[in-house]
Amino acid sequence: MILILLGPPGAGKGTQAERLVARSGFRQISTGDMLRAEVARGTPIGREAKAIMDRGELVPDAMIVRLLGDRIAAESGHNVILDGFPRTVPQAEALDGMLSARGLRLAGVIVIEVDDAKLTERIVGRFTCATCGAGYHERFRPTRIPGVCDRCGGTEFIRRADDTAQTVTARLAAYHRQTAPLLPYYRRQGKLYPVDGMADIDAVAAAIDRVIEGLESAAGSPKCDRARLTHPEAGL
Ligand code: AMP
Repeated sequence: MILILLGPPGAGKGTQAERLVARSGFRQISTGDMLRAEVARGTPIGREAKAIMDRGELVPDAMIVRLLGDRIAAESGHNVILDGFPRTVPQAEALDGMLSARGLRLAGVIVIEVDDAKLTERIVGRFTCATCGAGYHERFRPTRIPGVCDRCGGTEFIRRADDTAQTVTARLAAYHRQTAPLLPYYRRQGKLYPVDGMADIDAVAAAIDRVIEGLESAAGSPKCDRARLTHPEAGL
């Protein structure tokens, strides 16, 4: 099953994608994580992308489509959750082309809806464990012991360079201008599933699980680990 998680920056796409990976055997493809890895390695793509990302703008479609294409090919045969891709209509068209060339079909697009006013406070204050990548927030999801990762006990944390109040404004503007047109695009395909992202993390996760279960029964052949999905406590 191939799913897209769509929503503005700070909606919780990464958090929810992580949960799907842990609970239901999905592979997460995050184009933001892929670009940050290119930046960290100092590759030509990373050098070109860094300044654009720091301004809160979108990198060119051709660059991201090339990166994504290689990765989709590597993950073929797995349940995949796309987090942060597509972000423009040309990217969505390229994805449609890539999938149909491989005989694959997009199952659905889950949109996490959050009011703009909430997004800045959600983004500014985020941090991640440098060792295991677990995500936290100063106010909304602090570590149980201050300065110690709940998951791995690590004590080093990192903040994204673009999680600043100034950059968030530009990222939100990019979302409304370039990414929001994907909503009518996928609505026309009958693939859009909105969930209320203002609810707490567990409630959003439960809403996403219900969408996936509906998609599985509509497809008639469950491909992800349904036992673990319908009993979320299993495997946690
Ligand atoms: P994210 O981690 O998804 O918030 O992405 C961080 C940044 O990476 C974005 O603000 C963009 O600059 C860039 N980026 C990630 N995914 C894409 C994409 N699909 N298209 C264009 N730029 C992207």
